[in-house]
Amino acid sequence: MSFFKAIRIDQRAETCDARYVDMAEEELMPGDVDLAVTHSAINYKDGLAVTGKGAVVRRFPMIPGVDLAGRVTRSTHPDFSAGDLVVATGCGVGEAHYGGFAERARLSGDWLVKLPGTLTPARAMTVGTAGLTAMFCLLALERHGLAPTDGPAVVSGASGGVGSFAVALLAAAGWRVAAITGHPAEADYLTSLGAAEILAREAFAQPGKPLQSQRFAAGVDTVGGVTLANILAQTQFDGAVAATGNVGGMDLPASVAPFILRGVALLGVESVRPRIALRRAAWARIATDLDAALIDAMCEVIPFDQALERARAIVTGKIRGRVVIEMP
Ligand code: NDP
Repeated sequence: MSFFKAIRIDQRAETCDARYVDMAEEELMPGDVDLAVTHSAINYKDGLAVTGKGAVVRRFPMIPGVDLAGRVTRSTHPDFSAGDLVVATGCGVGEAHYGGFAERARLSGDWLVKLPGTLTPARAMTVGTAGLTAMFCLLALERHGLAPTDGPAVVSGASGGVGSFAVALLAAAGWRVAAITGHPAEADYLTSLGAAEILAREAFAQPGKPLQSQRFAAGVDTVGGVTLANILAQTQFDGAVAATGNVGGMDLPASVAPFILRGVALLGVESVRPRIALRRAAWARIATDLDAALIDAMCEVIPFDQALERARAIVTGKIRGRVVIEMP
């Protein structure tokens, strides 16, 4: 019998208990592709999972880790064979199916994307769900027919995971990017990612008129609430905003005026469902558009034995940038 190291969350009475354990490969959940996990990453969701906050984990026991990259060791899926380097994000991994905080994984091949040649597993994990979501937003804006020549793009929650990648990806695609942040100290960081203008979060935090001066052709919003309402009110004729987050609230206190008087579109973006064609297109674009040095600058690599402690720390806001876990 072959054993591997994993972080496992067990439910005990009303609490959750996350710890390092040795597991047998026979304990892995069903799937048609086996992987030696080489890298994972710490997402906020993983922090919630290991601390038992929020209803992230949908079955117990669970191996957390919503993002993972690794090498295929066995496959009966037609698209994959032993030796392939692959990445998995979302699709219930780390929530309903054993995830990336382990040396081994067994997944459905329908959730996997072969890593484009130029993207290493460590860089793919730096990008992770956050970067993939930002790319989904850019692709949604492009599908809507928008281009950098239409005017500037705005990104809210810009210094966060999704926001940072949205700034970098929009700038790399040629957009003039205005970055909304509540952290003025992050201005240099955002400029280094490609932001042309830094806007204060407070300017978007108070309820405003339903129609305001037209400033942006496109937007990526990770905040929701009043911020999204104000961005919509400042979006120009035929512009669009990709909405993907709710750090500022689940509500949308807006009017229909931007939609019916300016033809503004609100494009919903979610990253968990397995739409494999979109995932492959997004990873391919990430590999060609994002500079490797820029990805590396956003990342801290830690060994697996520090992963649990760092996952617990993310929910207290003690982590900046992307923390990538390197398996032994
Ligand atoms: P982060 O915590 O990394 O970043 C969020 C950023 O938002 C912060 O860095 C901060 O940036 C800003 N912010 C925080 N609190 C507030 C507030 N109260 N009001 C306004 N701005 C605030 O999160 P992620 O980037 O990983 O995720 C962002 C959002 O996107 C979350 O809601 C997350 O759940 C969602 N998400 C959705 C996905 C989907 O599939 N739909 C996938 C991934 C994420 P600054 O200081 O620069 O303003």
